[in-house]
Amino acid sequence: RDHAEQKVYSYLGPHAARKQRGEDLAIVVAGCVAQQEGEALLRRVPEIDLVMGPQYANRIGDLLEGVFNGNQVVATAPTHIMEDLTQPQRHSKTCAWVNIIYGCNERCSYCVVPTTRGAEQSRPRESIRAEIAELVAAGYREVTLLGQNIDAWGRDLTPRQTFADLLRDMAGVPGLDRMRFVTSHPRYMSERVVKAVAEMPALCEMFHVPFQAGDDDVLKAMERGYTAKRYIQIVDQIRTHCPDAAITADAIVGFPGETEEQFQATLDLMEHVKFDQLNTAAYSPRPHTPAALWENQVDEEAKVDRLQRINRLAAVHALERRQRYIGRIEEVLVEQRNPKFPNQVKGRNRQGCPVYFDGDAEALVGKLVPVLITDAQTYSIVGEQAGEAY
Ligand code: SF4
Repeated sequence: RDHAEQKVYSYLGPHAARKQRGEDLAIVVAGCVAQQEGEALLRRVPEIDLVMGPQYANRIGDLLEGVFNGNQVVATAPTHIMEDLTQPQRHSKTCAWVNIIYGCNERCSYCVVPTTRGAEQSRPRESIRAEIAELVAAGYREVTLLGQNIDAWGRDLTPRQTFADLLRDMAGVPGLDRMRFVTSHPRYMSERVVKAVAEMPALCEMFHVPFQAGDDDVLKAMERGYTAKRYIQIVDQIRTHCPDAAITADAIVGFPGETEEQFQATLDLMEHVKFDQLNTAAYSPRPHTPAALWENQVDEEAKVDRLQRINRLAAVHALERRQRYIGRIEEVLVEQRNPKFPNQVKGRNRQGCPVYFDGDAEALVGKLVPVLITDAQTYSIVGEQAGEAY
């Protein structure tokens, strides 16, 4: 993040110089760094005309009007987003991502998101439904609902609504084949969400629930708001209602104060769950976060060592989990040609695992294809077409 700030300032220098030379231009700084720095940007670079946080992307027209009327504008205060005009770019014509909640009200002690993205704001249900219906009409077959803490959706709406209820509603949009959602927070994730996945045919059997650490004192220092025991309960609920679901997560090693024993608790939790995929990171201090200022930082050598060990174990589990697909026929939604082997296509099964098989991309992209799985690698599986594409 420090690096991002420096980049913004060094990029601004030449444009500020152009303005000083009398060129007619407006300088706009937009995005997370703009949100975080706010008026400080104007103090350092007075030539800037507009500083706007991500939540203002759908108001840029109004803000520029203010600029053209001769004002210097800072738009970083919390605002309510009624319509999503900031849709993520969609490179695929098959799978789309749909934001349903912005910002985050949590205060994880290592995370900069609450500072940069602001308070939680749920999009209204009707607006989400309209976007999904439009996507289906445009030929998209899979939608992934997005939110930093997706389980929080609806608690800021009047009347209050629940994410589980939204899921059932959106998964029932006529014509939609598949729906996924990220990211679930163990503090708020409810069994009702798991049951919705078990009962609604369009909801794919895949849960991304970051646990971050396996030791309760580390979780407390991270201000995550749950214990390892509670996390295991969630996993048990998933395995009860959706026995074949993929469970993926994020974990941080070398958090300030983490001892070798506490790190071992993270490995123990992994042994218990056996994640289909685990995204790992060695803790690195982020400016404007409490943990960055603590003195009990773990030394770099220990962090690197722990990262290597956790990655080795994660790979063992990932392969083990993928081997269960061998000999099965999986429903694969084909997304693209395999860039490495053009006679192959790449898609995903319902659990979100990448699947490669021989096939003509022209004919198969955007289609659901039954694929007999013949081999498993650590993070993907391979097979052959076993029926008509549809
Ligand atoms: S880690 Fe996730 S839940 Fe925690 S503050 Fe950051 S975005 Fe919110």
